[in-house]
Amino acid sequence: MLSIRSITRSLPIGSRICQQSAMKASTVRPLALRAYSTRPPVTHFSEEEEMFRDMVSKFADEVIAPKVREMDEAEQMDKTIIQDMFDNGLMGIETPEEFGGAGANFTSAIIVVEELAKVDPSVSVMNDVHNTLVNTCIRSWGSDALRNKYLPQLAAQKVGSFALSEPSSGSDAFAMKSRATKTDDGYILNGSKMWITNAAEAELFIVFANLDPSKGYKGITAFVVEKDMGVQIAKKEQKLGIRASSTCVLNFEDVFIPKENLLGEEGKGYKIAIECLNEGRIGIAAQMLGLAGGAFKKATGYAFNDRKQFGQYIGEFQGMQHQIGQAATEIEAARLLVYNAARLKEAGVPFTKEAAMAKLYASQVAGNVASKAVEWMGGVGFTREETLEKFFRDSKIGAIYEGTSNIQLQTIAKIIQKESA
Ligand SMILES: Cc1cc2nc3c(=O)[nH]c(=O)nc-3n(C[C@H](O)[C@H](O)[C@H](O)COP(=O)(O)OP(=O)(O)OC[C@H]3O[C@@H](n4cnc5c(N)ncnc54)[C@H](O)[C@@H]3O)c2cc1C
Repeated sequence: MLSIRSITRSLPIGSRICQQSAMKASTVRPLALRAYSTRPPVTHFSEEEEMFRDMVSKFADEVIAPKVREMDEAEQMDKTIIQDMFDNGLMGIETPEEFGGAGANFTSAIIVVEELAKVDPSVSVMNDVHNTLVNTCIRSWGSDALRNKYLPQLAAQKVGSFALSEPSSGSDAFAMKSRATKTDDGYILNGSKMWITNAAEAELFIVFANLDPSKGYKGITAFVVEKDMGVQIAKKEQKLGIRASSTCVLNFEDVFIPKENLLGEEGKGYKIAIECLNEGRIGIAAQMLGLAGGAFKKATGYAFNDRKQFGQYIGEFQGMQHQIGQAATEIEAARLLVYNAARLKEAGVPFTKEAAMAKLYASQVAGNVASKAVEWMGGVGFTREETLEKFFRDSKIGAIYEGTSNIQLQTIAKIIQKESA
């Protein structure tokens, strides 16, 4: 298997992509694209990004696909798949090479999430939370000591979780009840977190708690918490979809966190959460885009090549063609939103509105396309013979986590209100 690390190392220095700038991608664009006098299309990918796509697509088809049904039924991620993601450099995509990562750009991380979701949205969300939330939080906000200690572990062997939501605070995340109390050499953490992705497998948690409730949301502080410090995995949820992805309740009872495990500054937890989630939403949008693409590919393959009724392939009926054309157009529109948001983020310009639009729309498209794909495959689509029913179940989560669809709409409208002031 060609790993991401070997891809980045095999490319000439000049063709590697600068982490913060999409501009450098233009240095490797093929001759045909130089004909464009303006910027290349948003879905044009550099040589390195295309190699990531091919590598991950092959990995998903060969390693993950044979285990998807079994993992879903068992509601358990196969440990060898997690190890394979580490071994292939998929768990430290943007992590600089000096910390054992692939040193690639944000778009590469998004491509990986999309490709994994085409085969299994559960594996995709594990990778997404680990890369776009946990690694990003530590890379962007961690002290040198935290980066030196944890980025190599997260790239090589330890799964990470992002623990913000609580039983009584979901959309209103900053109304959290978890509390941190300062001591001479650190902090004592008490409280509960709910619906935490990767929690069953994770050894490192980014945890948010209020250090000074008198300051409201400005008391919220983020910490890097090792499982061994005393994180209790209280309950694993049984879910409608993405069942191989673990979602757990966490309890903290007088957990001591050394002072060097403060992430960023005291009282800056709300800012860290907002900034990481703005970026993370593009990851969820990519997960939903991949899911729609995976369902579409399976169902159209069946309609055009396998299933005949009334003497012809079912995909040749006009009623089917109209639906297939509509779904393909929606997937393309979602793709443009996702990669536009990713490129804006890389270019260091505002992207919050575009990220919210991408997540909102891609989750709608995933729901529509997965539902149609089940219908296009008729009885076969409804049974567990195929993974169409699973894509349909998995699609529902896109409208819920990392901000519900209503919250995305609210974000978009608030930005438009500011823009029009
Ligand atoms: C499978 C799964 C994995 C998750 N992973 C994580 C994770 O890793 N880390 C983490 O911290 N959290 C995680 N979550 C939590 C997730 O982010 C929350 O479930 C989500 O933010 C919604 O919160 P809630 O469930 O409390 O719903 P609520 O906030 O109670 O919302 C219920 C309904 O009310 C609507 N609503 C709420 N407020 C408003 C408003 N102001 N205007 C209009 N409508 C509104 C919502 O849109 C929704 O339809 C996960 C959840 C699930 C199900």
